Amino acid sequence: ASALLPESLRADFPILNDDVLDGHPLVFLDNAASTQRPRQVIDMIARVYEHDYANVHRGIHTLSERSTEQYEEAREKVARFIGAANSHEVIFTQGTTGSINLVARSWGETNLRPGDEILTTVMEHHSNLVPWQQVAAKTGATLKHVPITEDGRLDMDAFAKLLSDRTKLVAVTSVSNTLGTVNPIAEIIAQAHAVGALVLVDAAQSVPHMVTDVAAWDCDFLAFSGHKMLGPSGVGILYGKEALLDAMPPFLGGGSMINEVRLDGFTPAELPAKFEAGTPPIVPAIAMSAAIDYLQAVGLDAIHRHEQALVDYAYEQLSQIEGLRILGPAPEFRTSLVSFAFEKIHAHEFAQVLNDRFGVAVRAGHHCTQPLHRLLGLSASTRASFYLYNRPEEVDRLLEGIAAVQAMFAPRGRKRRSQQQYP
Ligand code: PMP
Repeated sequence: ASALLPESLRADFPILNDDVLDGHPLVFLDNAASTQRPRQVIDMIARVYEHDYANVHRGIHTLSERSTEQYEEAREKVARFIGAANSHEVIFTQGTTGSINLVARSWGETNLRPGDEILTTVMEHHSNLVPWQQVAAKTGATLKHVPITEDGRLDMDAFAKLLSDRTKLVAVTSVSNTLGTVNPIAEIIAQAHAVGALVLVDAAQSVPHMVTDVAAWDCDFLAFSGHKMLGPSGVGILYGKEALLDAMPPFLGGGSMINEVRLDGFTPAELPAKFEAGTPPIVPAIAMSAAIDYLQAVGLDAIHRHEQALVDYAYEQLSQIEGLRILGPAPEFRTSLVSFAFEKIHAHEFAQVLNDRFGVAVRAGHHCTQPLHRLLGLSASTRASFYLYNRPEEVDRLLEGIAAVQAMFAPRGRKRRSQQQYP
């Protein structure tokens, strides 16, 4: 049986069938930045605003009860989706960035002292780097970075050597948004726990693409974003173990996060309200239900197989192009995306031509991984990232675009290209 999902599911995504580019069918290969949404999610957003909307946890009137109920149902659905035992271990934030900053500020500033170490990696997104730089500067803790191997995998020998009883937290991505590398999270967590360190997993690039089970991982903190998994922008999730979240002070202060306020102080609310100050992203959070329902109806394993087939095909074809360097490891160590760089063509120029002449949307730049690009001797790269609606024909459009751009910039730059075979 084909690893590919049926093409018919593309009909669920209005924007894929819209006339975005005057005559070109849209080839959307920028899913690692943000995905598109199916009709089911868009309809749910419209339905809530049309029929059920009011602020949550505020009033006893009917609409407030309805939106509160749906908001809390979404929290339960998210908890089940990631294997969390309790829904109050799921905090709605504004995104992965918001989730990581919450832990850095609340847990970090409370628990880190001079001499303590935070261990992160050279492949982190800026949002799992800068908050730790900030908290290190504030607390006197030291930030260390696990290097990568020549082929773009985490250097697990170096990781083992860097771990010590000084390590208080390991902050690591489950999938690199630039290299596509899938990191061995279960192993990382087991080794970190063995020295008494906690682990925060930046799961922005893995939750949308593969089954997540925080209980099986024994994960301490997990951060991800709705907009990378068919959900709305403006909502993210922080999962944290109950005992850890309970012991942490509130991050933002304001309405909803209190039990009682006096002029001279306050007592914080219980979880999860303690970390949801102010009016939360009500409708985006509710619409996460529809996104999760959609992903589960298609099946995370089926989505993963589909993307793997696309990655295998893209990798195989791209690796035959002279003057093009693929970043990161072989297909079996990666998922959902392929980044590459040209010797003689700047990523931005390339992406512009791809968009204007071929209708192919890719990401060009440093993808918020500037230190990693610097390490690889690059200032920018081009990234093609896939999701459940992408097709092998779209990889072909990308390849045609690359051939055309190379012909523009270096007329004889292209090596043989094997007989095209779809995965
Ligand atoms: N971490 C990783 C690995 C990411 O890919 C991204 C988004 N590019 C983020 C964090 C930040 O996510 P957000 O912008 O939704 O906060």
